[in-house]
Amino acid sequence: MMEDVVKTLKMRIKNEVLTTRKKERLRRITGRDTKIIEKYVRIIHHNRRKICRRTKKGKIRVHRGKLDKLTLTTSKVKEEEKRTTVPHDLKKMFPYCSHNEFQECRDIAVQLYEQGYRPRSTRPPIKRARRQLINAKRFILVHLPKEKDNTLTRWWVGIRDSLDTWKRNTPYHQKLWLPLEMSTFHQKELKKGKIKSLELRYKRSTREWWVYFQLRVLPSPSFYPTKEKSSSSLPPAVLGIDLGINIPATGVLLTPKNKLTNKEIKFWYTKQWNKVNHRYKLKLSRLQRKAALNDQSGKKHQIYRFLGLLRKRYRNVKRAYIHQFINDVVQMIETYARMYDLFVVVGYPKNVRKGKEKGKGKSTRYFRRKLYQWNFSLVLSLLRRALILRGFAPHRILTLDERGTSSHCSRCGKEVSRPVRGLIHCPFCNYTYHSDLTGARNIARKFLSHLFRPRTTTITDYFTGQKFSLTHYTVCRGLSHWLQSQ
Ligand SMILES: [Zn+2]
Repeated sequence: MMEDVVKTLKMRIKNEVLTTRKKERLRRITGRDTKIIEKYVRIIHHNRRKICRRTKKGKIRVHRGKLDKLTLTTSKVKEEEKRTTVPHDLKKMFPYCSHNEFQECRDIAVQLYEQGYRPRSTRPPIKRARRQLINAKRFILVHLPKEKDNTLTRWWVGIRDSLDTWKRNTPYHQKLWLPLEMSTFHQKELKKGKIKSLELRYKRSTREWWVYFQLRVLPSPSFYPTKEKSSSSLPPAVLGIDLGINIPATGVLLTPKNKLTNKEIKFWYTKQWNKVNHRYKLKLSRLQRKAALNDQSGKKHQIYRFLGLLRKRYRNVKRAYIHQFINDVVQMIETYARMYDLFVVVGYPKNVRKGKEKGKGKSTRYFRRKLYQWNFSLVLSLLRRALILRGFAPHRILTLDERGTSSHCSRCGKEVSRPVRGLIHCPFCNYTYHSDLTGARNIARKFLSHLFRPRTTTITDYFTGQKFSLTHYTVCRGLSHWLQSQ
């Protein structure tokens, strides 16, 4: 069972050698759609009684076939189905656009409309970023062989022009050739996967055109053997991971042995991140206050501009730290996976924010601020992706709802209260333990208890909703001693 992952590969077009004509064509490819989409949205809204319906849940659905009947004439079908006149003839309005392109724009417009976008006479038209997705059928990547004294660009991408050019009464498509800045890194990455589509993007900040390739990457089979049998010689182990606020992640590895050693406990956190984070937060809040105070000195726009820049920088720094964090976790998991037949179970803190809103319970604003900083689902999806790319089978990285895991004793399983933040003391078995470790251990135990439930045959991933048969996890039954109170 392999799952592929979509990766984006950014590549710069050699803008300095682009001719003005090519730039103009790029601009047209990315800009023209906006007008057509706007037109479509207006047509849908005008005819909403005829082509829209409401679902039981109250959502609006647009009938695409009926919309086509209003907008597009047809000529290549049977005589009785032919449409020669339609109320809103788009082909007359945009004569250079092909049928396929109209349909792409139609789909985007329908999506926009269903999401609640409405045209208004006072509203300016949609301002989409200058970008255009181009599917694999509409471009080719060409590599010219190396010749002596050949300093010219060797990598080109040819994009089939969607504007129909008419030659002797038949439409034909020209190609727009763009020179690429391809490095050895790019070439290596391209070899790993298959190109699914590409996106043309205009970067306003540098005024450059870029190409974003979307690669479908198959995980490397080197790490985990594809046959289940060959890994079964290793002893089974379950790694429970608890995502937290002060400590981003805590891991506890349950092995066939009955006791936890220091090696099987892992805290992932960086002191530096807390410092950096704090500094940025302080700066941002100061600036925000400054901007909110109605400053009459006329420097307000400067503050807003600086605020925007700072937010952007903060986002980038944060992203770098998250990636570093994911890297650390994945490395640890890899070392464990060499020793054990490993299964990773992550607790998904879905309801962690519930009951801690403003004015509820004991929450302070500082605590709430921390609570909303770390994006759990981003961390989870990145971790999942990184593991799958390294050859982990999807059923080996599971997500479970962590409800109740931090309020139960990880030894005897009874519900306990938390006297001090950070520690859990169980009055029944007189056992004191770190609260994050308790969470991690309980997540692993929760997973194991699923295996011994009567009449259950599948286990559901909380994050993706995928269902996995329990037969994948039969080896884990050897860890049942962790479920008994010790
Ligand atoms: Zn206990």
